[in-house]
Amino acid sequence: RTAKSAGTGQWRRYEPSMTDQVRQSELRAALGAAIDGEALLLEYQPIVALRTGRTVGFEALLRWQHPTWGRLLPGEFIEVAEESGLIVPIGEWVLGAAMRAAGRWRDAGQARAPYVSVNVSAQQFRSDGFVDTVVRLLAQTGLRAHGLVLEITESLLLRDDDKVWHALELLRARGVRVAIDDFGTGYSALGYLRQIPLDIVKLDRLFVRGLTTSRRQRDLVEGIVTLTRALSLDVVAEGIETEHQRQACLATGCTYGQGYLFAVPMPETDTVSWLAEAHRAPPP
Ligand code: C2E
Ligand code: MG
Ligand code: MG
Ligand code: MG
Repeated sequence: RTAKSAGTGQWRRYEPSMTDQVRQSELRAALGAAIDGEALLLEYQPIVALRTGRTVGFEALLRWQHPTWGRLLPGEFIEVAEESGLIVPIGEWVLGAAMRAAGRWRDAGQARAPYVSVNVSAQQFRSDGFVDTVVRLLAQTGLRAHGLVLEITESLLLRDDDKVWHALELLRARGVRVAIDDFGTGYSALGYLRQIPLDIVKLDRLFVRGLTTSRRQRDLVEGIVTLTRALSLDVVAEGIETEHQRQACLATGCTYGQGYLFAVPMPETDTVSWLAEAHRAPPP
């Protein structure tokens, strides 16, 4: 069926374009099977208050444990999932699993239970019944709407699309929060922030990196943060890897952050003990 099963594994290595094609169709077939198996899993990365270190939320990040290819990160298969349309059922599974996890954090008895932040691809967001799916999963999991954040990208908002706009408004009217992910990497007209029905801006890690290396970048981030504050939006700085970067983010007015400095994405089983320890830990 595939080049691999035909025993042509050797040359696949030397024909990049062919390799890509074979790999694509192979990936796609395997991904279809993975949805129904237990090969897809989520890891969770804490989102913390930069000043106190308190965990305010977790971002759910998709992984695929393939029997022979090993552990795959989304960068290796999300595109295939989007092109094949598989992102819709996969995304639905992600939402349900992430919301159930958030329910367990709530049950673990934190004073303020962390929210779960879920990446939603544009295609998934545009699919029929997306809002209904979210509403149904909220009811099924018993998670309060405020416990859920949906991360969308600028590309979703590029087209002037009434359907997208309407869906965002419906979700927010229910209390679900919406974050714009990787802000600053796409078509970021700042004025745009004023119009989008939005709650949180996730500042791309390129900005965080630039903060400590360039004055111009720092001024730019300060400008973005000032604007988002004026609009009552929260800012999460992504990809904080050093204490220096944490300080720089705080200095520009960012309130929240995420990155390897605090924690790498962890399996769900570790999240409850993380919360218990983070609770006791003194501020960094
Ligand atoms: P993202 O939403 O911007 O997620 C943050 C990515 O940065 C994650 O990569 C995370 O592991 C990584 N990261 C976190 N802290 C640091 C840091 O300090 N330094 C660096 N260099 N990287 C850091 P990951 O897990 O490989 O995910 C990549 C992308 O795949 C995500 O970027 C998101 O766009 C997409 N993705 C992940 N899960 C899903 C999903 O369930 N559905 C959809 N549609 N997309 C997903
Ligand atoms: Mg994200
Ligand atoms: Mg991001
Ligand atoms: Mg990113």
